[in-house]
Amino acid sequence: MSPPFADASCLFCRIGRREIPAKIVFENEHVLAFHDVAPKAPTHVLVIPKTHLARISETSEADTALLVDCLAALRGVARSLSLESYRVVANDGADAGQSVFHVHFHLLGGRAFAWPPG
Ligand code: AMP
Repeated sequence: MSPPFADASCLFCRIGRREIPAKIVFENEHVLAFHDVAPKAPTHVLVIPKTHLARISETSEADTALLVDCLAALRGVARSLSLESYRVVANDGADAGQSVFHVHFHLLGGRAFAWPPG
């Protein structure tokens, strides 16, 4: 596994290296979680693996535990924020709305959400 936050130009790696400030809500050996700078809901937290992986679709079997770690961290953050109901979003690729190419899961809560999403 590559060292944490290894991509020099990746925005989220730079947040992980503390080069760009963020409101960090959770961190463990493999995962970092911080508030989205442009929240789309009253609670909007991003959960990222410390290993730089650009897209979920580009991950391999070897990365599976890391993806599970992200979801477990997300569950813990949701509990710590007392969210009774929330939405988890992962955009993969530009057409899906991915703008930062470091795998991340959006944790959105604090309001009702429409379905299907746009
Ligand atoms: P996506 O569009 O799915 O790739 O999500 C990227 C998210 O990163 C968006 O919701 C942005 O608002 C968020 N974002 C961009 N820059 C920052 C930043 N400096 N700190 C926290 N969140 C950010």
